[in-house]
Amino acid sequence: MSAREARYDILFEPVQLGPVRAKNRFFQVPHCNGMGYRDPTAQAAMRQVKAEGGWAVVCTEQVEIHPSSDITPFIELRLWDDGDLPALARIADAIHTGGALAGIELAHNGMNSPNLSSREPPLGPAHLPIVTWANDPVQARMMSPSDLADLRRWHRLAVRRALSAGYDLVYVYSGHNLSVLHHFLSRRYNQRTDAYGGSVANRARLLAEILEDTREECAGRAAVACRLTVDEGIGDEGITPGEAAEVISLLDHLPDVWDLVLGSWELDSATSRFAAEAEREPLIAGLKQLSAKPVIGVGRFTSPDTMARQVRAGILDMIGAARPSIADPFLPAKIEAGRLDDIRECIGCNICISGDMTMSPIRCTQNPAMGEEWRRGWHPERIRPRESEASVLIVGAGPAGLEAARALGQRGYPVVLTEATRELGGRVSREASLPGLAAWRRVADYRLGQLEHYRNVDVYRESEITTEDALGYGFTDILVATGARWRADGVGRWHTSAIPAAEGASVLTPDDLLAGDHPLGQPGAGPQRILVFDDDHYYLGGVLAELLARLGHEVRLVTPAPLVSAWTAHTLEVGDIQRRVREAGITVEPSRVLTALGPGEARTACAFTGSESSVPADTVLLVTARLPRDDLYLALAERQGEWPERGVRSVTCVGDAWAPATIAAAVWSGRRYAEDFDAPGPPSRDRGYRREYTALGTFG
Ligand code: ADP
Ligand code: SF4
Repeated sequence: MSAREARYDILFEPVQLGPVRAKNRFFQVPHCNGMGYRDPTAQAAMRQVKAEGGWAVVCTEQVEIHPSSDITPFIELRLWDDGDLPALARIADAIHTGGALAGIELAHNGMNSPNLSSREPPLGPAHLPIVTWANDPVQARMMSPSDLADLRRWHRLAVRRALSAGYDLVYVYSGHNLSVLHHFLSRRYNQRTDAYGGSVANRARLLAEILEDTREECAGRAAVACRLTVDEGIGDEGITPGEAAEVISLLDHLPDVWDLVLGSWELDSATSRFAAEAEREPLIAGLKQLSAKPVIGVGRFTSPDTMARQVRAGILDMIGAARPSIADPFLPAKIEAGRLDDIRECIGCNICISGDMTMSPIRCTQNPAMGEEWRRGWHPERIRPRESEASVLIVGAGPAGLEAARALGQRGYPVVLTEATRELGGRVSREASLPGLAAWRRVADYRLGQLEHYRNVDVYRESEITTEDALGYGFTDILVATGARWRADGVGRWHTSAIPAAEGASVLTPDDLLAGDHPLGQPGAGPQRILVFDDDHYYLGGVLAELLARLGHEVRLVTPAPLVSAWTAHTLEVGDIQRRVREAGITVEPSRVLTALGPGEARTACAFTGSESSVPADTVLLVTARLPRDDLYLALAERQGEWPERGVRSVTCVGDAWAPATIAAAVWSGRRYAEDFDAPGPPSRDRGYRREYTALGTFG
């Protein structure tokens, strides 16, 4: 019997989407996953788990419909010809097996397709350079009437193939500046003077035609969804909410459901550092009033109350989710079962998106099973029960130690988790106090909440473990998850030996500021001239510079990269970060390196010519590299001869203490320890994981 609270009943009402019926209001919108045509079976298993978790509709990512829509190097699904059908059918079947309707997002990427594999000239509304992240030196050709006719034919064929593969809902994609239909709609690209340019109705003509074709092909067998950009966020130069309103009013008779998105992917999938849950609510609410069709929208929804309010207030008909469904594929099932405390809330970090951006299978900070469902057989909710009488001491309650404790606790092993400090959570608890990163605390909160269910797991704070303690407590297995510390000598990517420092030079590391009690990190400290040297290139250098600037210091950020926090291009934040640091009054010096430290000044050099100059700096903050805090592990390893007599069978090191990396990597390593624990055969590092192999073509 369902134990859900009555106020969430509304989320479990069925919704009619043209000819098909969604069993509830939870809709996993299309999302990229870096698996695509290379890893279709891994994707099928991932989507099946989502379906199993209660989503009424589970969709693929964008599916390239033709070789002229080839977005290499990115790896999406393809439907170029019948050869792609088995992969597509496997995914649809898996979604059905999980109990959901299967949706497919057909896409022609237009000016976003460099066609690096297919070598077809890209297509667009105008003769303009293509709009890819890499600024490929290729132009789109202005589509002629026969190109337009071809596009309609290709789309029709793709719809037919999608139906033959078993999909219940077919998308017409006009979103995210990633689709030719979006490019036609947007004034910045479409300056045509024919029937496809000029007025909104003309710019939407191609969209209307493709919607009509799709509707005709679906012929009541599948629903037609339209994913529409409603604001490009660039004012009158791009698609505006006013224009979107006109499109919806004109074309409302064509799709069975609207999926309303924001203009660039960056805008639509902003991180929690830059956008709150449900932030776009007023915009979508206005547009929904214009439509007689159900409306889907996203908002990084993790709170069931927010979701229910969206429906009750007539803002949305279906709760769209990509990231919340990645962090917790069982989100609907948990709401239905009244297990709200078990929801693994997305933290809005976009590590999931970094998979797609780096052409590697999706991963998630909160859900280490994401992308591993088929490869390693991991499940976000289930794990093998205990297989021996072993007991485990875990040292360090950061993300790695917490996840290992949670997963071993779930398996039923007796576990003691110890933490040197008062605060549990390690780096996530410390970093969550930085500007914009509060949601990161959820990594610790979720795991601590779960540990409360397990009477077999005991947690001890303020318990710094020594080698003797670890060997003497009588545990069969010891896991060291003691984290890492930031280097204070400047060694990192650029400098592989220490930066020369004159006597009296004042140096800070991120750890000093993260400890929370450093005078320079407190309000009211006299303003200083602080040089931040960021040779790490992920978020921390930029965030700490922002913190220091907010506290009134005069901050100069020096980085060898051309952009601040350059790796965050993969988390779609890099643009927002450039704006944020400049708005905070930080002086940014890209493509420069720190070469020497002295009291009151520092020397920096051009990253290309090496030409040096001095800059005033009372203190230098070095965000360069970390060293594992592995003294305990090394000492235990050294005493391996004593393990048998102490009853110890294994000592393992995971997370940043093994190799400093992302929070996602630490969580994953904790999970891997728990999955490998008592597993027969060689450890997973030797075994590897399941892969898909290329079917060889006929040679000659
Ligand atoms: P990871 O990202 O690998 O989980 P963190 O740095 O976030 O690593 O967390 C490591 C945790 O281990 C920190 O909270 C730290 O205080 C704790 N720790 C380090 N050494 C010891 C020790 N000897 N005994 C208990 N806890 C420790
Ligand atoms: Fe959310 Fe981060 Fe997981 Fe993506 S990786 S789903 S943003 S927690």
